[in-house]
Amino acid sequence: MTRLAQTAGLTETQRDIIGAVREFADRVVIPAAQELEHTDTYPAEIVKQMKDMGLFGLTIDPEYGGIGESLLTYALCVEELARGWMSVSGVINTHFIVAHMISAHGTPEQKAKYLPRLATGELTGAFSMSEPALGSDVAAITTRARRGESGEYVVNGQKMWLTNGGSSTLVAVLVKTDEGAEKAHNNLTTLLIEKPAGFGEVLPGLTIPGKLEKMGYKGIDTTEMIFDGFEIGADEVLGGTPGLGFRHMMDGVEVGRVNVAARACGIAQRAFELAVTYAKQRETFGKPIAEHQAIAFRIAEMGTKVEAAHLMMVNAARLKDSGERNDVAAGMAKYLASEFCSEVTQDSFRIHGGYGYSKEYEIERLMREAPFLLIGEGTSDIQKQIISKGLLRTYN
Ligand SMILES: Cc1cc2nc3c(=O)[nH]c(=O)nc-3n(C[C@H](O)[C@H](O)[C@H](O)COP(=O)(O)OP(=O)(O)OC[C@H]3O[C@@H](n4cnc5c(N)ncnc54)[C@H](O)[C@@H]3O)c2cc1C
Repeated sequence: MTRLAQTAGLTETQRDIIGAVREFADRVVIPAAQELEHTDTYPAEIVKQMKDMGLFGLTIDPEYGGIGESLLTYALCVEELARGWMSVSGVINTHFIVAHMISAHGTPEQKAKYLPRLATGELTGAFSMSEPALGSDVAAITTRARRGESGEYVVNGQKMWLTNGGSSTLVAVLVKTDEGAEKAHNNLTTLLIEKPAGFGEVLPGLTIPGKLEKMGYKGIDTTEMIFDGFEIGADEVLGGTPGLGFRHMMDGVEVGRVNVAARACGIAQRAFELAVTYAKQRETFGKPIAEHQAIAFRIAEMGTKVEAAHLMMVNAARLKDSGERNDVAAGMAKYLASEFCSEVTQDSFRIHGGYGYSKEYEIERLMREAPFLLIGEGTSDIQKQIISKGLLRTYN
């Protein structure tokens, strides 16, 4: 048989790009991941090499200096990077979402101002919806931007859980602008905030307090963001028209969900590979544990889950690339891949016996990475809401 998680029908360019990223993950990312993760160190050198490879501009139109590749190509690259180390894929994930939102919804001036610098990685993107009191219930956002006397917006409030909040230099932030609409989500607007990287009061009225301590997903920064009378021009409203922010963000997280599914696929693949290697060399009761049926069956289940998750992720990416609505497909892929990733890492951990609990073994890190995928870009419960709405709409 061929190896798991192959993708039929790729162009030669796609195969070349994905092959190069896989080679990069094997040669550069995997050997460095354990130490960087355990010391919670930002992977600066790896990120530099990713910029040199053009990965920051992978999906950006060539008109703006990018490579102009599809969501599928991007997702398959993310799968390879996450197989190496999830944090590395996390660096480009928020960047990719911001680039997508500006490409799809930005004004011509915003595209010209930001996309060329996003394509080279001179600017790196983060996006911010969540607040201390809300994550799933996006429409309940309270961070407020009011129009000042000279037309600028004055922002007050607090944001939470920004992936790359400190290291990024362009943040797409969802705020409440009170458009007078009856439905709460029509009163939300996305602002594009260019800022210096770093922590503390990075601009007058805009503070990034510091890194949040996390269970896993270490190395990259996750932060709060505090606005206290922060002023920004109305020309930084994404698309130029206030009140459309919710739609912009939902479009962003829809591609983000395919990307989270891809990360889950990458982590599950790595957990599977590690389990097989270990099961073939560890012996109990006179034979390799892979020859005990309980372990062999576990490997069969893990491989089936790796394959199923990959196929659903590819299907969701292709649907989006075709221009079709893909909320249900992306929701299904994200839901299934993240749940399977959790199960596969757990199974691989069990196969490793006591060594799975040792920090010397990679599976320990994967075990701490997998749970985030159940939460980020909408929890499994929220995916089930999206999926069930779609199914009930379609079936009588
Ligand atoms: C490491 C990390 C990085 C993150 N990065 C970002 C980022 O870059 N940008 C950003 O904006 N956000 C980010 N987030 C936030 C993330 O998107 C939210 O944590 C997530 O959406 C869940 O929101 P919550 O934590 O407020 O949980 P809640 O919304 O409070 O949910 C709590 C529980 O209730 C369940 N629940 C909620 N509503 C329903 C419902 N209607 N029906 C059934 N069950 C429900 C949820 O499934 C969950 O189990 C990040 C979070 C983490 C942990």
